[in-house]
Amino acid sequence: MDTKILLPEDRIPKQWYNVIPDMPGPLAPVIHPGTMQPVSPDDLLPLFPMALIEQEVSTQRWIEIPEAVRDIYRIWRPSPLFRAHRLEKTLGTPAKIYYKYEGVSPAGSHKPNSAIPQAYYNKVAGTKRIATETGAGQWGSSISLACQMFGLECTVYMVKVSFNQKPYRKSMMQLWGAEVLASPSDRTNAGRSILAKDPASNGSLGIAISEAVEDAATREDTRYALGSVLNHVCLHQTVIGLEAKEQLAIAGDYPDVVIGCHGGGSNFAGIAFPFIADKASGREVKIMALEPASCPTLSRGVYAFDYGDTAKMAPVAKMYTLGHDFMPPGIHAGGLRYHGASPLVSQLVHEGVVEAKAVHQLACFEAAVLFSRSEGIIPAPESSHAIRGAVDEALLAKEEGKEKTILFNLSGHGHVDMAAYDDYFAGKLTDYEYPEEAIKESLAHLPKVSF
Ligand SMILES: *Cc1c(COP(=O)(O)O)cnc(C)c1O
Repeated sequence: MDTKILLPEDRIPKQWYNVIPDMPGPLAPVIHPGTMQPVSPDDLLPLFPMALIEQEVSTQRWIEIPEAVRDIYRIWRPSPLFRAHRLEKTLGTPAKIYYKYEGVSPAGSHKPNSAIPQAYYNKVAGTKRIATETGAGQWGSSISLACQMFGLECTVYMVKVSFNQKPYRKSMMQLWGAEVLASPSDRTNAGRSILAKDPASNGSLGIAISEAVEDAATREDTRYALGSVLNHVCLHQTVIGLEAKEQLAIAGDYPDVVIGCHGGGSNFAGIAFPFIADKASGREVKIMALEPASCPTLSRGVYAFDYGDTAKMAPVAKMYTLGHDFMPPGIHAGGLRYHGASPLVSQLVHEGVVEAKAVHQLACFEAAVLFSRSEGIIPAPESSHAIRGAVDEALLAKEEGKEKTILFNLSGHGHVDMAAYDDYFAGKLTDYEYPEEAIKESLAHLPKVSF
């Protein structure tokens, strides 16, 4: 039995899988934050090229991957599927554990799977420059790489606290040719107004989004790019699950459980959606989204219309939310600290197709260390949530004496996150359960939408 199941380059998927036609019901409209009416494609044109706006609402089940995108995917795709023999042995479980490893991309995570096509469609539409935001820097580095590949300029508004504390992702972005600004910056009205009030502001993802959106909306040559949440981002990520299915077939297996960590929903969608297609046609498979207990959007939020950002400039979407002014605590899984969630994943959770589960930070690091010491690969703190989920399922199988096949997505490596491991070993990390009153408080500020 092989440890590593590889596909040749000519098996890189030729089409992305669009889950929209297999959704359990119609999609809720996306609402314009100014007019509170459904957005039209024209409203979005200052921000996105038409090809991506069309993908956002497409009801076609299969969408062709352009050859130019597949050519760049060849650098790291198909990514390997591993059988976690050593982890299984360590756990003493009768379960078979497989993981799809997305850390082999140049940026070290799944995010280039969408950054590459986003840059491509912008290039084709005549865009010269991309403006975007980044928190810890995973998205910023992925879009910098993609812009470099297609000859686009790139400006990244990076949350100031990360800009100062996480210099290496900033270095990666600069190496790939991007301009990186600490947000709030003096480049935009949004940034200047924050700095006027608080010159020492550390910034936030909400502020950085506002700066990038303003930059793109006010320059003819510039568009915006988002690394998660939106339907077209989830669509692009389905190469993960499509490849995994083929690789499992080579191993003669099919999963009983499919697991992904969940921040905005893109890597989860990537591993899970192709299996949801099977589930929609009657196959039994349990699908689980793992999120931090400190930012429990899917498991403790409400399914309602809310703004995509703190500044209320982004569209209003129906999704699980903790409220757009929710302030997540500074946990190390920076990529899992979004107040909302992908509307597609949200609807699937709401309809009971997907199960959501919140896990604590210390239990995730414990699983990440166990994984590194058995499998060797050092996971990103975000990915450790999926590992925790898989380890718990494997331990349950052991308790019940049941054979079971578990598949999870290892969304990225942790090489640029070693400070988080240092803090864990130094005993500086604590668990944090978001208090019910604070959730209630931010949920009191949801917009009133009557659709
Ligand atoms: C950004 C990121 C995530 C979370 O984002 P999703 O859109 O929920 O996938 C998870 N893992 C890694 C490694 C990331 O970089």
